[in-house]
Amino acid sequence: MKLQILYDNSTAQTGVLSGWGFSCMVDGTILFDTGEKPESLLHNMHQLGYNVSSLRLVVISHEHWDHVGGLWELLKTSAAGLPVYVCPGFSGGFKSEIMRLGGLVVEAVSSSVIDESFTVTGEIPSVYKNEPMPEQALVIRGSRGISVLTGCSHPGIITMVKRAREIYPHDPLDLVMGGFHLMNSDEEQIGNIVLAMKDLGVRRVAPTHCTGDAAISAFRNAYRDDFIPVAAGSIVEV
Ligand SMILES: [Zn+2]
Ligand SMILES: [Zn+2]
Repeated sequence: MKLQILYDNSTAQTGVLSGWGFSCMVDGTILFDTGEKPESLLHNMHQLGYNVSSLRLVVISHEHWDHVGGLWELLKTSAAGLPVYVCPGFSGGFKSEIMRLGGLVVEAVSSSVIDESFTVTGEIPSVYKNEPMPEQALVIRGSRGISVLTGCSHPGIITMVKRAREIYPHDPLDLVMGGFHLMNSDEEQIGNIVLAMKDLGVRRVAPTHCTGDAAISAFRNAYRDDFIPVAAGSIVEV
């Protein structure tokens, strides 16, 4: 199965735009997060050969501008009734805007199975700048095990991976990809997180977006060939 980054702080390909935020296309039909600028998201989708009309559903990790910005233009052009998976703790205004634009709000309280290959973790609570910031991850069952796709990981990347582990206790943990939010963490904290990721048995990592350069280097050093550098346009097979 193919995961392709549609929106990231840097780009891996000429013709694909970069911008602060995150979005990833999963198997050509599931959009995880929508970046900040709708024009960049739609440009990159088109450039990489994806159609809005082929989307089965959208998963929004958390209600931050750099993850939800592209959603509204997308809903204006998508088929009516496009399911958008949100956390119950997202704002009422956010959910009603989805409905106003013809989308279908799907609230994942606890883990919610989409089909045999995809599950959303459901809401994991966290606090960001003294405000509640609930977040969810997408768990993908691929040929090599499970992959965890994260937006910013405000509840903590290890907490999010552990939730995926609880949902699938027996599957190998193949990949963790997305924002790990370690920009403000010190060397010791980063080191502990890298060790915890190894202890959980995570085989491959693709940290990006708000992970921070120091943490990205630490993961590169620890994972070597199993560290996957990613940016907008990158493809990772799972
Ligand atoms: Zn972010
Ligand atoms: Zn965020």
